[in-house]
Amino acid sequence: MQIIHYPHPTLRRVSQPVRRVDAQLRAIAAEMLELMYAAQGVGLAANQVDLPLRLFVVNLAGKAGEGEELVFLNPVLRHPKGTSEREEGCLSMPAIYADVKRPERITLQAYDLAGNEVNLQLSGMLARVVQHEVDHLDGVLFIDRLSATGAMTVREGLEELERAFSALAERGEAPGSAELAARWAELEQRYCRRPRQETG
Ligand code: ZN
Repeated sequence: MQIIHYPHPTLRRVSQPVRRVDAQLRAIAAEMLELMYAAQGVGLAANQVDLPLRLFVVNLAGKAGEGEELVFLNPVLRHPKGTSEREEGCLSMPAIYADVKRPERITLQAYDLAGNEVNLQLSGMLARVVQHEVDHLDGVLFIDRLSATGAMTVREGLEELERAFSALAERGEAPGSAELAARWAELEQRYCRRPRQETG
């Protein structure tokens, strides 16, 4: 497992709801936390590690053994209130930072790995991180939410990442679209399929 960088196509995939939690998915969440700490992040969405599933991890402390490790499945955000502007970065876009306006407060409804429903009213940094991660699950990146001026300031950095990704593709080290589609389908078949319903 590794963190993929813009413009990898999985970052634009709308992740599918998780309908099954197994030992492998719990191991995935644990490994995502490890990767997030190693990269000095405070949040990481599953599609940032090339798994298009509606799941993300957060720890505002950014260190193992400190703060609170949170894993949220199938998050839904409601009741946005207020506005705040703050600089954001993203583990999938190294060295790119810009101010992003978001609602100051938000409610989060989600599930934890044990299947318990979670309802939280969030504000401050946690509200921001959760909104950033839910955006990821919808295939949205913070660069999509910038002012015209903000977009100009990140343009050069993004072009550099685009060149790096093209170079990977030229060396055959980036997955082709058929390979990606097959992997997405396999994951979605395992974790996102609705249980069969009996008719009659
Ligand atoms: Zn991000």
